[in-house]
Amino acid sequence: MSLSIVAIGVLLLSLPALAARLTLGPATQVRLTCVSVTSGIATLGVGAVLAASPLVMWWRHGDEIQGMSVSQFSPGGPWAWAAAGILAALGSIWCLDSVRRTYNMRRQAALPRWAAASVERNTDADVEVRVADVATAIAFAVPGRDHHIVISRGLTEQLTPDALRAVLAHEGAHLRLRHDRHLLVLSTYSRFWGWLPGVASVVRAHRNAVERWADADAAHTYSLPAHDFVDAHTTLCQPARAADVGQPAKSADHWWRIAAVWSLLAFVLLLGGLTTMHAINEAGALLAALH
Ligand SMILES: [Zn+2]
Repeated sequence: MSLSIVAIGVLLLSLPALAARLTLGPATQVRLTCVSVTSGIATLGVGAVLAASPLVMWWRHGDEIQGMSVSQFSPGGPWAWAAAGILAALGSIWCLDSVRRTYNMRRQAALPRWAAASVERNTDADVEVRVADVATAIAFAVPGRDHHIVISRGLTEQLTPDALRAVLAHEGAHLRLRHDRHLLVLSTYSRFWGWLPGVASVVRAHRNAVERWADADAAHTYSLPAHDFVDAHTTLCQPARAADVGQPAKSADHWWRIAAVWSLLAFVLLLGGLTTMHAINEAGALLAALH
C-alpha cells in the first residue's frame, strides 16, 4: 500500500518532463510543473512515513504483531521500516534546509537603500528601483516584504529608454506574479532530482518558461513592443526571440493539450489521495486490532 503511494509520488515528479516537451504556453507549463512537484514531494513524504509506521507497532507490541497483515501494509520487515523512517526524517530536514538556503540567497541578493547609488519609483510596476553602482549590465527582482528591483548603472547606460522600460516591466511582472515561489519549487526539484540524467535540461526549460511568462505578461499589461524586450535581453546576454514575447493565437489543439495534461494531473492526484486515505484507514484498523 505504502509502495503504491511512493510510486504515485514518483509519477507526479516525472510530470514536469512531460510538461517541458509539450508546447503549453509558459504560464500553464510552469503552474502545472509546480503543482506536480509540490504534490509529488508531499506524496513521497506521506508514503515514506506510512512505510515506516509498522515499525512503531512492532516496537510497541513486539511478538503480538506476528500473524497480522503488517507486511502487506508495508513489505520488508523492521529493517526496511526503519530505513523508510530514516529516509522520511532526512527528506524533511533536507526540504527545510533547501527552503532556508533559498531565503538566505534572496537576502544576500537584496540591495539595501543606503548601498544604492540612487533610488527611484517605477510608476508602471509601482515598485522601488535601486540602482547599483556597477558597470556590468545586471537586472533582477528581489521579492519579500522589502521587495524591489535592482538594476546596475551599466545597464542604464547601455539601454535605450524603451528597452529599459521593458526590463523594469519584466522584473515588475516577476514580482507581481510571485515567480519567486515558482523558482523556489524549481530549485528544490533541481536539488532533489538533479542527479538524474535529463533533469537539468527539464529545469532549464521551465526556468526559461518563467522568463517568457514575465516578458509576455509585461508586454501585454503595458502594451510594449516585443523588439524592446529582445534588445534588453541582448544587452543582458540572455537569448530571446520576438515570437516568444508576443502572444500567438492559440489553436484548438493547444487547448486540448492543456486540458489533457491538467486532467492527467488531476487523475494522478485523485489516485494518490484515495490510496493515501485507504492506507491511513488500514493503519488505523491495524492499531485498533492491537489494543
Ligand atoms: Zn527575468
